[in-house]
Amino acid sequence: MADFEQMQNLSEAIGYKCEGCGAPVEFDPQTQSLRCSHCGLESKIDFDTSVNERSFEELFDCQPWQGGIKVIQCQNCGAKEVLDKNEISSSCPFCGSPSVLEQDELAGIKPDSAIPFKLQKQSAASKCLKWLKSRFFAPSHFKKNVKLNSVKGCYLPTWTFDCQTTVFYEGRLGQRYTETYVVNGKTMTRTKVRYFNVSGRLDKSYNDIYVKGSEVVNDKYLQRIQPFDMKDYVKYDDKLLAGFEANHYTIQPIDAWHTAEDMIKSQCRQEIVWRYNADEVVYLNLSLTHHSKSFKYLLLPVYISATNYKNKLYNQYVNGVTGKVTGKVPVSPLKVALTCLVGVAVLVGLVLLLGS
Ligand SMILES: [Zn+2]
Ligand SMILES: [Zn+2]
Repeated sequence: MADFEQMQNLSEAIGYKCEGCGAPVEFDPQTQSLRCSHCGLESKIDFDTSVNERSFEELFDCQPWQGGIKVIQCQNCGAKEVLDKNEISSSCPFCGSPSVLEQDELAGIKPDSAIPFKLQKQSAASKCLKWLKSRFFAPSHFKKNVKLNSVKGCYLPTWTFDCQTTVFYEGRLGQRYTETYVVNGKTMTRTKVRYFNVSGRLDKSYNDIYVKGSEVVNDKYLQRIQPFDMKDYVKYDDKLLAGFEANHYTIQPIDAWHTAEDMIKSQCRQEIVWRYNADEVVYLNLSLTHHSKSFKYLLLPVYISATNYKNKLYNQYVNGVTGKVTGKVPVSPLKVALTCLVGVAVLVGLVLLLGS
């Protein structure tokens, strides 16, 4: 792994400059301002909290993200990041590799909104370390291997969708019931199903259905570090990238919309089944129409830690607002075996104790 601090110093050499002394400034999550690490001068960012949704006509015709940014790609794991044009790319937040190269490609659509980091990097790192220490089955060697300065703040791309949905449905559902009957003077029960036809209309309103914008983080971990609060949304500002990176989206908005459609469809299906208290579905046909569709491109604040252990990579993720931690850790076979042995010993002891 490269000397992260050295890379970071390089990246700090150019970038957003302090208005007072010309030193590099970084976004400070605590004060929500650009802060100079040299003279301490802070320039408050007045975030615009009026977050706009994009109409669906823009789905194929979005404003490109141009200007003060560039795209880099990790030559080791392939992750793409967007960062401030003036910063020298340091190490990859996902694998820690220093081999990141600038790409000629454009960054695609400009984000509409973001949730700014509220948690300082140091607190994220110590929360991460505390969490790792609490992983009982993780090898002690791995825990010692974790470096606090490998934690990096990275915005994760997310598409969110709003829409009004009208569903027309028809189908055949079944409800289970128990019937009692008497055989040779004995009362018995049996389960039967009553089938019935249904048809009707369902109207739903959806606000901010989240669909991930890149494959780089497993869905499981994205779910576990939730929730993020809609109240924290601000209009995207390039200053948020000072000292931070944004993971480049790889899932196109139209594909994300198809995922959202599938999510809506299965939710509606579930709701119709509940509406009739049905236990069985013979068939259920849904015809969905979505109106007033809108979407936006949102960046979620996440601290990422990358630790190599026995040539395998383990990532941990910290919610950049709440500090909730999740991630992957190796399992020590020795610790598992010892725990099983202790468990068996306790059981044997109990059996002997009860036996006597
Ligand atoms: Zn300064
Ligand atoms: Zn990488």
